Amino acid sequence: MNYDLSTRDIKFLSGVGPQRAETLNKELSVYSFKDLLYYFPYKYVDRSRLYRISEIDGNMPYIQLKGQILSYETFGEGRQRRLVAHFSDGTGIIDLVWFQGLKFITSRYTPRKDYIIFGKPTVFNGRINVAHPDIDLVEDMKLSSMGLRPHYNTTEKMKRFNFNSNAIEKLVANLFNAIKNETIPETLSPAVVAEHHLMSLSEALYNIHFPHNPELLRKAQYRLKFEELFYIQLNILRFTKERRNSFRGIVFDRVGEFFNTFYSQYLPFQLTGAQKRVIKEMRKDMGSGRQMNRLLQGDVGSGKTLVALMTMLIALDNGFQACMMAPTEILATQHHETIRNFLEGMDVRVELLTGSVKGKKRETILSDLLTGDINILVGTHAVIEDTVNFSSLGLVIIDEQHRFGVAQRAKLWAKNTRVPHVLVMTATPIPRTLAMTLYGDLDVSVIDELPPGRKPIDTVHQFDNRRDSMYEFIRKQIRDGRQAYIVYPLIQESEKMDIKNLEDGYEHICQIFPEYKVSKVHGKMKPAEKDEEMQRFLRNETQIMVATTVIEVGVNVPNASVMVIENAERFGLSQLHQLRGRVGRGADQSYCILVTGYKLTEDTRKRIQIMVDTNDGFEIAEADLKLRGPGDLEGTQQSGIAFDLKIANIARDGQLLQYVREVAEKLLDSDPNAANPNNAIVWRQLYELRKKNVNWSAIS
Ligand code: ADP
Ligand code: MG
Repeated sequence: MNYDLSTRDIKFLSGVGPQRAETLNKELSVYSFKDLLYYFPYKYVDRSRLYRISEIDGNMPYIQLKGQILSYETFGEGRQRRLVAHFSDGTGIIDLVWFQGLKFITSRYTPRKDYIIFGKPTVFNGRINVAHPDIDLVEDMKLSSMGLRPHYNTTEKMKRFNFNSNAIEKLVANLFNAIKNETIPETLSPAVVAEHHLMSLSEALYNIHFPHNPELLRKAQYRLKFEELFYIQLNILRFTKERRNSFRGIVFDRVGEFFNTFYSQYLPFQLTGAQKRVIKEMRKDMGSGRQMNRLLQGDVGSGKTLVALMTMLIALDNGFQACMMAPTEILATQHHETIRNFLEGMDVRVELLTGSVKGKKRETILSDLLTGDINILVGTHAVIEDTVNFSSLGLVIIDEQHRFGVAQRAKLWAKNTRVPHVLVMTATPIPRTLAMTLYGDLDVSVIDELPPGRKPIDTVHQFDNRRDSMYEFIRKQIRDGRQAYIVYPLIQESEKMDIKNLEDGYEHICQIFPEYKVSKVHGKMKPAEKDEEMQRFLRNETQIMVATTVIEVGVNVPNASVMVIENAERFGLSQLHQLRGRVGRGADQSYCILVTGYKLTEDTRKRIQIMVDTNDGFEIAEADLKLRGPGDLEGTQQSGIAFDLKIANIARDGQLLQYVREVAEKLLDSDPNAANPNNAIVWRQLYELRKKNVNWSAIS
């Protein structure tokens, strides 16, 4: 007998056969016994309880009844046809309804026999209905042993052949029967299993499919999640260690004239405590002899640019150049100006390189980078082109990290023979748990404090049929000398529609506010035009800015106090938060108005409510993760990292993730060379998993 379940073809399982095997391969990627064993139910339903029809109401999620079909009736014609069975248990009558497979049902289930039916009740025309219920003969059902029944996902295609959750359940039962005389080998070491009171793997696998009670289910889930997260963490930590041992970082051991002069003579305000702490963390990193690889998270407006600047000055103090990369031309330009203004009077040369810097100007920049004449280069993607070379690049700063993929970052590192220090800044805070999983080898610094004097932005939700009061409010703000943004969503299916949407909005706003000047900015404009329009708004020559999301990132107009977001239901949470962050940058009270239609999905309602309730980007990011799941999160898609988690959920199992990370750390510290025979199972398992998941090593 072959005990390796991964090499036993599913087609040899009783109840499968060649045709079903092909379906399992194609539809569920189940090829082997092991694949089926690891095809976990997505939910469980308590089938140990029978209800009476007299106690049913339409709000119950599921009901299970024992009774008889009294008679069948059909209604409607063609596609509208439906079959109704009047079903009674002696306490009342309900209707079972089918829209498909009518013939099959009437031939299979005969009136006046005892059946157990199971399904979701709904109320239709004042009567209780159960559409497409599960039906079993009473003889076939052992209620006492049923407990929690597993429900498995199957595809539409499978359902058409009646290859449904019940069918999968039977196959899994067959599988356990087929292997009942074998033991499934343990994949965690006895020490780990014992210390953390885990269920054994074979018990856990059985109970994840057929739990007799909720407690056993919980234990099985815990064991399997523990293992899944443990190996992910162990892998990342191990990888980080290997990498740290193979790279030596440039040592910045000096804090000298540039930094000190700036700090004592040019810095226009006090640093916040959080800014000071973060700068200290980075100084320590860069002086340590290993390469800094750090993620700086800070909410919108928390002062990351200044931190970036001061870090760059440390690089300069040690005789190196620094480079800062931003995702858009507007943002790069703004950083360039901000940094120039901060450094005015100091002997530091700062240049800007974007796609629109061309000809002579570009040539000069390229050659002065090579001689080391330029100290700081700020730019867009243009800085990672092959023609751009530095004399001694010591530090790379990437702003708004989620717009750049891993490959692009790697390109920047290659611009020096010694790997430069890397600081990645993001205003879309990635929840800690996710950052740990995604960027296990990035250290994380957090600016968790806003500069003093900022007032939290007042956020309200407004239905779109009540605009008059909103316009009145904006008018009042402008009369008080302030400015307003009005943002329209991008509807990506059609660029033409987007522009039309914006044009219509623009004309409407011009009509409503004839006494004021209105700017308009969208993604299809030439960068120079866009910039000119932004500059006019910045100079308060226009009072209202109508725009698409091009203004989402980084733009800084402190006098703007109102952010109106039209069709707010079309935006993701982090995007709404970014947009809102465009106001509240001055000392006065600012407002964000989220405009939506009346009909909202439950999800949208929640998103809007979160925005109204909190200004805290971290809270919003956590909520976003919970609502959407990690695969959807901005940043994880583009980073190209697949979340192939079978059972754990990064959003919901954050605490467990933290816990297993510590377990993995301890194990790695106690056995750095993977030599302790007590851990043999663990290292072998990690090796196996690494072979299969090439993806893992791409995480950095
Ligand atoms: P973000 O983190 O969103 O990039 P910025 O760096 O653009 O934030 O900073 C927002 C604003 O706050 C800027 O105008 C900046 O000059 C100002 N700022 C930064 N640090 C401080 C501070 N410690 N005290 C007062 N204002 C500050
Ligand atoms: Mg910024």
